[in-house]
Amino acid sequence: MSDPYRTLGVSKDAPHAEIKRAFRKLARQYHPDRNPDDSAAEERFKAVQSAWEKLETPEKRRQFDEEQQMKQAFGGMGGMPGGMGGMGIDDLLRQFMGGGGRPQASPFAGQPRQTQPQTAKGADIAAPLDIDIERALEGGKVQFTHNRLVRCSECNARGCVHCTNLGVRRKKTRLTLNVPKGAKHGQQLKLPKMGNEHPTGEPGDLTVTLRIDAEEGRRWEGEHLIQEVAIPYSTLMLGGEVRVSTPAGKTVSVKVAAATRIGDRKRLPKMGYAGADLDIEFTLDEPESLTPSQQAALEALRDTGM
Ligand SMILES: [Zn+2]
Repeated sequence: MSDPYRTLGVSKDAPHAEIKRAFRKLARQYHPDRNPDDSAAEERFKAVQSAWEKLETPEKRRQFDEEQQMKQAFGGMGGMPGGMGGMGIDDLLRQFMGGGGRPQASPFAGQPRQTQPQTAKGADIAAPLDIDIERALEGGKVQFTHNRLVRCSECNARGCVHCTNLGVRRKKTRLTLNVPKGAKHGQQLKLPKMGNEHPTGEPGDLTVTLRIDAEEGRRWEGEHLIQEVAIPYSTLMLGGEVRVSTPAGKTVSVKVAAATRIGDRKRLPKMGYAGADLDIEFTLDEPESLTPSQQAALEALRDTGM
């Protein structure tokens, strides 16, 4: 199966808004209206659409990421017969409950403490949280909702029909996170005991990974912010100057060397997020249409063999 992140040209830790922008850009580029009778473009268009369908809501994306993680986990154990096919979420929950949950039906629910490992503990949960760049810069409180296993209140975690004898049930939990001022992309916030609860043992922990939306034309490579700067072909070839709006809201003038290539980078010290360096990456500013004088100039250029 193709990797939707790769198809859309985004990293696996990209915030949702960045993936959405990447999809829109590619969908425009390969749209059948723009590429009539071009089967290669049509294929790309379909691939882009199907990649987007896997990631289009945070919920779908989480599901996709979880499936990939589990496939990897089971792949490492020699694979599962029949793949993920017949496995329900409850089966998966049982496997991922850490200390094993309540394995037997209720007749045994009262007594067999000795069959539970001493270290019985609910599984830890890792979850991403998308925040915008202003919130990350300023820090502050952010609402966060996640699904976790909590002790079943119907049976006091002894196992009953409501919790399919697991002693725990899935429940949405809402909590408030304190995002530190100047939080980093990929920074992890650990919340002890906010992971899955266990019928008899301690709850697991919750680890939230921050994903910062750096806005249009910017993306993260690890902790490093990359900003695309579109320049005209003449500037690429002849060199010149270009105005750049930095994430800190400043506009700076940057020199472009002659014979610059698309994809070349330049580091602007301390111009990036929270005072870090900013790497700009030159791309081609492609006009949607040409003025008559641009048309004439290009035709003259063509006549020179360029
Ligand atoms: Zn129950």
